[in-house]
Amino acid sequence: MHYLDHNATSPLRPESLSAMTHALTISGNPSSVHANGRAARAIVEEARERVAALAGARAEQVIFTSGATESNNLALFGAAEGSLADDSKSETRRITRVFVSTIEHNSVLVAAGRLAERFPWIRVATLPVTANGVIDLEALRVALREGKGRALVAIMAANNETGMVQPVAEISQLAREAGALLLVDAVPAAGKMLLDFSFCDYMTLSAHKLGGPQGVGALIVADGAPLVPQLVGGGQQKGLRAGTENLSGIAGFGAAAHSLRDAEGERARLAHLTDHFELALKRAIPEAIVFGEGFKRLCSTTCFAVPGVTAETALIGMDLDGVMMSSGSTCSSGKVAVSHVLVAMGVDEALASCALRASFGWSSTMNDVTAAVASLVKLRERVRAHSSNGKEAA
Ligand code: PMP
Repeated sequence: MHYLDHNATSPLRPESLSAMTHALTISGNPSSVHANGRAARAIVEEARERVAALAGARAEQVIFTSGATESNNLALFGAAEGSLADDSKSETRRITRVFVSTIEHNSVLVAAGRLAERFPWIRVATLPVTANGVIDLEALRVALREGKGRALVAIMAANNETGMVQPVAEISQLAREAGALLLVDAVPAAGKMLLDFSFCDYMTLSAHKLGGPQGVGALIVADGAPLVPQLVGGGQQKGLRAGTENLSGIAGFGAAAHSLRDAEGERARLAHLTDHFELALKRAIPEAIVFGEGFKRLCSTTCFAVPGVTAETALIGMDLDGVMMSSGSTCSSGKVAVSHVLVAMGVDEALASCALRASFGWSSTMNDVTAAVASLVKLRERVRAHSSNGKEAA
């Protein structure tokens, strides 16, 4: 089997598995004061340190959640509500404008839409991207100048479908100059590039994209940034996210984050695999197109198309060869739809329907690259033979 779908979910790292199995043997609630409770608490706090280190943040800024979907929802709703409580006398502190880029994950796009329904004074606007999938800074600059009240900008550090790295430092500077808050979805970027939380007010992470388990993530919140909890009940996590912590999930997340602490070598290895994949693909299939080629992309992600071979055909064909990839957004897995990210980049629908994503990670090898290219070559031959037979018959 050749698994090239790490942006959907990265296989569980052995370090995470062993941290999780150990955590499962601790029969204690992290909030209990007895010895077992303290042992559970120590696991949670060690993981918090490790996740904070991955993001360049402090442990006390990390809130564990059930994944990045919850984190993005918590950040958007929590900030909007928090900005009301923040300083009710000052209208300028109230969030009235939310800017999201067109290439965000649905957990940001859909939540932002809901935000405008729940808080009618909030106007949500989308920021365009350039043909290379990079957020248009000029559009952001203009957008931030208009309107009263505080703005919240939500962007990703790098795109999960194309791997395009976004200009977070520049966006952060524009946001700061305008007094706006900045939420950075760092899910695909974490471990694949250095993260610097000092640019952000909120940052989201997801364990299962790093080789940790599914169903656990984090929201990192800067000191003083408004946040009203969206899950209420117990006083866990300083009251910011009620509910007994997912002990084994958090332990696995912490272990995955820890294994990425000096990941320079690993990033170079992934870049080598990605480069090799693209070279071999273009050598074997000269008409293949790599989206965002020549621009700054994650070391581990390539979004490409073989014109004439639809993603649907390719995914089924490759699956038969034991090669696993994605088309479009993987969170809606099982559904082969044209990617909203490619549409935002102005890619025409016919080509976008052929778009595939290969994403590499800790378990990927050169063997996977070779098998994937061989399978694609076979498919392209089969599709060609099929269409020339069709022509003859016609
Ligand atoms: N943001 C991005 C950019 C993602 O790729 C994903 C998952 N595909 C999420 C958020 C949601 O993460 P989770 O699966 O942890 O809810």
